[in-house]
Amino acid sequence: MDIITYNEKVFSPFLSKEEIDGIVGGLATQINADYSDIEEDVVLVSILDGSFIFMADLVRKLTFQFEVEFVKIRSYNGFESEGEIELILDLHKDIKGKHIIVIEDIVDTGLTIEKFIEQLQALNPNSVKVCSLLSKPDVHNDIINIDYVGKEIPPVFVIGYGLDIDGKGRNHHGIYQLEV
Ligand code: 5GP
Repeated sequence: MDIITYNEKVFSPFLSKEEIDGIVGGLATQINADYSDIEEDVVLVSILDGSFIFMADLVRKLTFQFEVEFVKIRSYNGFESEGEIELILDLHKDIKGKHIIVIEDIVDTGLTIEKFIEQLQALNPNSVKVCSLLSKPDVHNDIINIDYVGKEIPPVFVIGYGLDIDGKGRNHHGIYQLEV
């Protein structure tokens, strides 16, 4: 992996394709163990845009039956309406009585996922769990319980494997960290 640049910002290698494969495989093993005997419907809800590559890799390693859904969330972190979210693309299925696994690329402050779970709970699912490829515990201070964490990372800004900088850089196989 080489250093890459976007808008004069320099990113250095952080996680290789092989390391990510191992992390996704480990998450799939845990989820398969927990859901293989469940009789009710299971729905994996992917939060776009960042989780689309992670979701595509993860679902192909799962061995039980499930449906998929995609949502798109606009969050207002850092603005006056701090912590508010708006669903730009909403669920299309009724999730009442179903087991939900929310698939997120990265949990930073945790506000997006916290608010989204509140909205899901109001729809009376059987259960809601969260799976995130990456998590920044120093930022969210465990305000949110993440049931399946791929890897805890320091509070750095990362791109690649679905994660963007100004909409770009999602296509890299590996994950890169912003040099400061
Ligand atoms: P939170 O509400 O947890 O603060 O924000 C979560 C969302 O912010 C993630 O789904 C992702 O879109 C974005 N985000 C947080 N940290 C990073 C990061 O290091 N890199 C990128 N590319 N996006 C991030």
